[in-house]
Amino acid sequence: MKSLIFAAIKRGVYSQEMKTKSKTPILGHLSLALSLFLLVFAAQAKSKFCGMPAGGIYTRTAVPDDMPIALTFDDGPMRAHTPRVLDALAEHGIRATFFVSGHKIHRRSWHLIARMAKEGHALANHSWTHDTRMAIRQGTPEFHLQWLYAEIYLTQIKVDLALIAQDDADYTRLERYVFRDFYGKQPRNIQVKKAPHIYKRHEEIMQENGYAPGQHPVKLHWFRPPGGSPYLNPAKFPSADNCLFNDALAQADVRVALWHHSTRDSVPTIVSVEEKRHYAKLAAGAAQKHGGVILAHDRLIGRPLIALVKALVPLRDRLIVMDAPDSFSAPAADPAPPATEAAPSPTPHTDTPPHTAHTRDKTQR
Ligand SMILES: [Zn+2]
Repeated sequence: MKSLIFAAIKRGVYSQEMKTKSKTPILGHLSLALSLFLLVFAAQAKSKFCGMPAGGIYTRTAVPDDMPIALTFDDGPMRAHTPRVLDALAEHGIRATFFVSGHKIHRRSWHLIARMAKEGHALANHSWTHDTRMAIRQGTPEFHLQWLYAEIYLTQIKVDLALIAQDDADYTRLERYVFRDFYGKQPRNIQVKKAPHIYKRHEEIMQENGYAPGQHPVKLHWFRPPGGSPYLNPAKFPSADNCLFNDALAQADVRVALWHHSTRDSVPTIVSVEEKRHYAKLAAGAAQKHGGVILAHDRLIGRPLIALVKALVPLRDRLIVMDAPDSFSAPAADPAPPATEAAPSPTPHTDTPPHTAHTRDKTQR
């Protein structure tokens, strides 16, 4: 039954059924019964998180002790901060995964994406606009699916352009051509109607550069929803919207990546350098004990960043980068390659069930 209703949502009839007003008492009762049934179903769907894509990281609980460790940085690229993060990682031979936001990749920051890839870090997707409420439906289900898909795929396109560009002038030329409809006009916004034109021009550019349709210099396999929503606060989001969100992720072929240990560097009340250093070391210590994903942001610079990176140096053999869809589907069968190797390579894994959803620390983003 759940799949029937989900199919109805995908076809866009769910809202119409809910809005139907009957003109006869019998039909009125039927309508009421249907509404009640759908409400009951919605409550069930909320608790079961319908259609949640398999293989993602939704929780920090139940981390097996032999899980690998991944250091991740969100919200970049940032011209003032990211170079300092990259310098610290290079100095200590640590590789990380950068969850980048599409609207932050432009002619003055594209080279940071190229540098991340060149220095052996993994690239991952943190959406185009960084809208923490993107799971809440806008317009019809069809429109919302297209909008969410654009949030994910336009970020992949920006990364592609940054990785094929030869220099500043070349990047600017590529961006002006592919994002013709966006260029200079509120690049933070998504214009859903124009997105298909961008996809087409991107495909042309990629083919000119020797890539087959659908092929990328680096495929962004992992997606971290801004603010962790709706997975951290499922009750705040309508269950039908959560279903649509999961559907969009499946369409874009990305896996959800929340985190297990936070450096708490985005908690507004933690301001002093000493406090930040303390929490950074605490996150590294928890990762040492349990393995799992460490969350930091490109803003974490200076002594707290150095403390975090230095704490991970003895754990380098357990560090992986999230460059493959199965990076975290199971504990590593073999040790991960040393972090100083030039090119990242996927770690072999065996199949185990994905993690289940749990509530997380709401202050961590
Ligand atoms: Zn973020």
